[in-house]
Amino acid sequence: MKALVTGGAGFLGSHLCRRLLVDGYEVTALDNLYTGSRRNIDQLLAHPAFSFRERDVADPIDGEFDEIYNLACPASPPHYQRDSVMTVRTCVLGILNIMELAEKTGAKVMHASTSEIYGDSLVYPQNERYWGNVNTIGLRSCYDEGKRCAETICADYRRQHGVDVRMIRIFNTYGPNMHPEDGRVVSNFIIEALKGEDLTVYGDGSQTRSFQYCTDLIRAMRLYMEKPRTEIDAFFAAQGLEAPVLNLGNPSEWTILELAREVLRQIPESKSRLVFRPLPSDDPKHRKPDIALAKALLGWEPEVPLAAGLAQTIAYFESVLG
Ligand code: NAD
Ligand code: UDP
Repeated sequence: MKALVTGGAGFLGSHLCRRLLVDGYEVTALDNLYTGSRRNIDQLLAHPAFSFRERDVADPIDGEFDEIYNLACPASPPHYQRDSVMTVRTCVLGILNIMELAEKTGAKVMHASTSEIYGDSLVYPQNERYWGNVNTIGLRSCYDEGKRCAETICADYRRQHGVDVRMIRIFNTYGPNMHPEDGRVVSNFIIEALKGEDLTVYGDGSQTRSFQYCTDLIRAMRLYMEKPRTEIDAFFAAQGLEAPVLNLGNPSEWTILELAREVLRQIPESKSRLVFRPLPSDDPKHRKPDIALAKALLGWEPEVPLAAGLAQTIAYFESVLG
């Protein structure tokens, strides 16, 4: 079996490539290294079944693959806002290219969407039936609306051209292989704590997120991709959902202040203190996935509690920082 992983040199993409190689796939990673890094795939490059294309997902893609996983897109707010036009381009042209290839070759597609499509959610916990509360013109819109449009493209290619696509709405996921300058809260807090710098909490830290360890997500992705299409179609039709879309996250919810304190608890030698900065615009107040559908379809739920996942991630960043 052949798989293409776009964003394969990124945090999640590199874990997925590794897992697919273990599962016996021939894996091609495609990445323009915008936020990804060669370090994440260094060990994989020696594997005879792994190859790397340094390319932009927004440019036409060739080749024949049984499965395509579309993860290419900067995921951290500072990075997706750095060149917001490029973010929209990546989201929209990337999935259009992939769908065109899938239609031509019959490949199965898994598209990485995001909890951000719910925006500053008025429904809590967020479930797949909720349509979201998103600002179309704000600083986060390039990502939120780009990802929403990508979902539309997936749903329409499925309806109009019969492409077998499975969408996942990923909730805050963390772990080894995150870029040290990624800018998301878990890696920021750990690196600040390890360097003895103050931990920067935005707002008063009462906003919440639900943190999923990367291995739990990758396990769910593989289970979902392995389901026969007939089963997927019947399941989502019975749910009254127009397309196969699943929340994947860990429902254990933490305030950002609680997260900061847990990081400092695990790095007791740190001299860091907490400092508070203004909350960025459109920062969602509460985020917690309803994962009833994923449980029912995949028999899956997350296994790694935050304390254990943080310990692994801290060990990783200790080795990176030397
Ligand atoms: P990441 O930034 O580490 O990985 C993204 C990868 O995509 C990087 O390697 C980057 O270089 C590559 N990329 C970006 N633009 C590209 C382009 N135009 N062409 C080719 N490659 C490009 O982030 P991640 O956390 O691994 O996220 C992977 C995917 O999962 C993204 O699509 C993201 O939106 C989605 N997601 C992640 C999370 C999370 O919490 N980690 C949450 C929701 C959704
Ligand atoms: N955050 C923070 N300090 C940081 C980075 C982020 O307090 O150094 C906050 C951010 O404002 C948000 C939450 O932590 O409320 C999660 O931010 P992240 O960028 O990880 O992801 P988001 O879920 O907002 O996309």
